[in-house]
Amino acid sequence: MTEQSLTVISCAEFQDHLPDLFANANGVPSDPALKHHLDTCENCSALVRDLQYIADQARMLLEPADEEPSDDVWSGIQHKLDSERAEALPTPPLPS
Ligand SMILES: [Zn+2]
Repeated sequence: MTEQSLTVISCAEFQDHLPDLFANANGVPSDPALKHHLDTCENCSALVRDLQYIADQARMLLEPADEEPSDDVWSGIQHKLDSERAEALPTPPLPS
């Protein structure tokens, strides 16, 4: 009897665990059987990479960035409007 520390699981079994993986650990398995499958299966590692990318994008959309850019953005817009308005205004003709 050979030593078999890792349970070999199928892609379907691995993918059954994906919702749990992403709910708890952003796709990083702590279960050795899942980790081994992820390390050795190109299909599932590509799938997990895609899901991690999507999860990252979703997090960025849901969580506002630490720095709040809106003040800078707004003052930039305000500045641009002011300078455009200044250019657009015809200089009043000087009475001669
Ligand atoms: Zn697989």
